[in-house]
Amino acid sequence: MPDDLHRPSAIRVLPSTLVNRIAAGEVVERPAAAVKELVENSIDAGASTIDVVTRDGGRTFLSITDDGVGMGPEALKLAIERHATSKLPSDDLLAIHTMGFRGEALPSIGAVSRMTLTSRRHDAAASTAWALTVEGGTAGEAAPAAGRAGTRVEVRDLFYATPARLKFLKSERSETAAIEEAVTRLAMACPAIAFTLMDGARRRLSLAPAAGDGAAARLQRLGDILGRDFAADALEIRAERDGVRLTGHAALPTHNRATGQAQYLFVNGRPVRDKLLLGAVRGGYADLIPRDRYPVVALFIDLPHEAVDVNVHPAKAEVRFRDTMLVRGLLVSALRHALAEAGHRASSGLGTAILGGRHAGGATTGYRFPAHEPRTPPLGLAEAVAQYQAPIGPPSARTVPAAEAEGPPPAEHPLGAARAQLHNTYIVSETPGGLVITDQHAAHERIVYEGMKAALEAGPVAAQRLLFPAVVDLSQAEVDRLVERREELSGLGLELEPFGPGAVAAHTVPALLGDTDVAGLVRDLAESLAEFDRAEPLRRRLDAVCATLACHGSVRAGRALTVPEMNALLRQMEATPFSGQCNHGRPTHVSLALPEIERLFERR
Ligand code: ADP
Ligand code: MG
Repeated sequence: MPDDLHRPSAIRVLPSTLVNRIAAGEVVERPAAAVKELVENSIDAGASTIDVVTRDGGRTFLSITDDGVGMGPEALKLAIERHATSKLPSDDLLAIHTMGFRGEALPSIGAVSRMTLTSRRHDAAASTAWALTVEGGTAGEAAPAAGRAGTRVEVRDLFYATPARLKFLKSERSETAAIEEAVTRLAMACPAIAFTLMDGARRRLSLAPAAGDGAAARLQRLGDILGRDFAADALEIRAERDGVRLTGHAALPTHNRATGQAQYLFVNGRPVRDKLLLGAVRGGYADLIPRDRYPVVALFIDLPHEAVDVNVHPAKAEVRFRDTMLVRGLLVSALRHALAEAGHRASSGLGTAILGGRHAGGATTGYRFPAHEPRTPPLGLAEAVAQYQAPIGPPSARTVPAAEAEGPPPAEHPLGAARAQLHNTYIVSETPGGLVITDQHAAHERIVYEGMKAALEAGPVAAQRLLFPAVVDLSQAEVDRLVERREELSGLGLELEPFGPGAVAAHTVPALLGDTDVAGLVRDLAESLAEFDRAEPLRRRLDAVCATLACHGSVRAGRALTVPEMNALLRQMEATPFSGQCNHGRPTHVSLALPEIERLFERR
């Protein structure tokens, strides 16, 4: 006998207000999603200017004003009905040429807020605007109102009707940042449309329309959003295969970021966050960028509408391709091609070949040939060796004068005695059983990192005052994030203060870092902070913070080292935990045992 809880109750059809509230949970999970839907509607309405205003992270107020086609009173009433849309004239879900098509946004937003639509059609016959209000899903009547041609949507008290959702909103700052992000992505897709975004009285975005429709307009818009240096470092991408067209811009590998936030991807003009595409971008930059750094790209994929399904997710952020491998392959090869043409190839010809592109086993144990491949060298080795033997211009190896080389390497030093520095980057040392090649930057990074962690655990961090404060330009969201963490950062030796709009001034850096690239450091920190939970103390994320700090405080590749410096570095490595890998997981050194070297030369 079922208990009371499990007694069947009558099945009923839910009232539409409740249905809309349930849908709202998926379509508008936070204010930024509402902004995204409303801006998409404005784009679909053919607007040439879109103005967004938010207050309190969109929670108490947001408005979107456009100069698009507008709506008459009947259209207004229909627009707030569930599943009412003007965008699917033919019932064909494959023929979608607009941002919207589900007819869900307005009824969903209206179900959980107090929403007023004011709209006036663009044609001359429309002499007045009409306004219509929906409160918690209850619609009023359309009434004449004052207003210019176009549409204005005002949303007050978002989620007041669903208090549970209200509780899950993040801080005002992070909601505002998410709104900026949403508007930014749409603005990238539509360079011809002018956008503004106000956060209360504060201007967050102001994007002039970019003339023309081609790559130049796009690059102008990207530069306005991502900064002038992106525009300077961007390679134009243009490729096509079997009806799939890829265009856009990809930054040089050296122009990278600490997070994947600046990877903007669009499918048929729609901003998407798609794992497959992000993976393909990673593939395109493989070997050219450290494993935990992210390239900056804005890539636009256009393909026949029947080759992609955009109706996968209520928020329309995901897509499904009919031919996944085709799209992935196109992306990877177009990126690789463009990057190779730019002359930025993987710097480690020989090493990559010997290691087969991957490091096998722990770095300290050195490389082992795969067991199933006893005689033949790995693919590509022959070319790599040939390349290595080819004349390489003026000799760049710093060999150790005989007097400085202190005889045979002592057996107690596993990393051996330094014999030479190659390309101001690699230390070659001799061990009793073979040789070791050490990447000086990677190695030093690990040492600084472990040192910082130890220092932080021991007590407050010594700060070193800068002679002149370093002023770093950032986005307002990044400034906010840093300023929010100001006290904690100062505890780590980094003293910052806001410096006018969109900039901070750094007064001190952690002394351990020595002479460092302050701007790069501050930028990377601002970016990694975005990934941290706001309530989480920095000390709990110390590893990540230290990694960022360490990367900027380490001996750069390209610095000449003296023999005592090289040996000191090797000895420090031997004394440092985990020194086999840098913080990015790359090996810090590779050892080759004599038998392996002999096999390389087919002596055995
Ligand atoms: P969808 O965009 O999926 O059609 P919405 O609920 O977002 O669904 O909008 C419903 C309809 O309201 C749209 O199809 C469109 O006809 C109309 N509409 C919404 N916003 C605007 C706007 N800013 N300008 C003109 N028409 C609009
Ligand atoms: Mg819509």
